Amino acid sequence: MSADCIFCKIVAGDIPAKRLYEDDALIAFHDIRPQAKVHFLIVPKAHIETLKTCTVSHTELLGRMLLLAPKLAAEQGLFGFKTVMHVEREGGQEVFHIHLHVLGGGPVA
Ligand code: 5GP
Ligand code: ZN
Repeated sequence: MSADCIFCKIVAGDIPAKRLYEDDALIAFHDIRPQAKVHFLIVPKAHIETLKTCTVSHTELLGRMLLLAPKLAAEQGLFGFKTVMHVEREGGQEVFHIHLHVLGGGPVA
């Protein structure tokens, strides 16, 4: 846990979020500023700053994040969807605790 990390606070339950999934290693919750009708984030409970800091030791965790996407997307009624992971500010990353965006269902009304 990183004291000033917003996603660590959501993992800990200190900040509310519209959660849709939790297991031993991952949580998923709806994005607070959705860019699509369905927009949620798959987030490891462990604080990892960016994809660039991942090593081979994170292989299983990253695989689990990716494999969770179609399962939760289907539960949200999506047939197709897009996944995005921003890396570093230059790549659009704002929250430095890795997360996989899952978007679908068309533009926000
Ligand atoms: P990034 O640009 O780092 O890939 O994406 C961060 C995402 O987290 C953004 O889409 C932003 O809307 C979302 N976000 C930031 N703070 C919060 C929060 O407190 N709650 C939720 N649910 N989403 C957040
Ligand atoms: Zn964190």
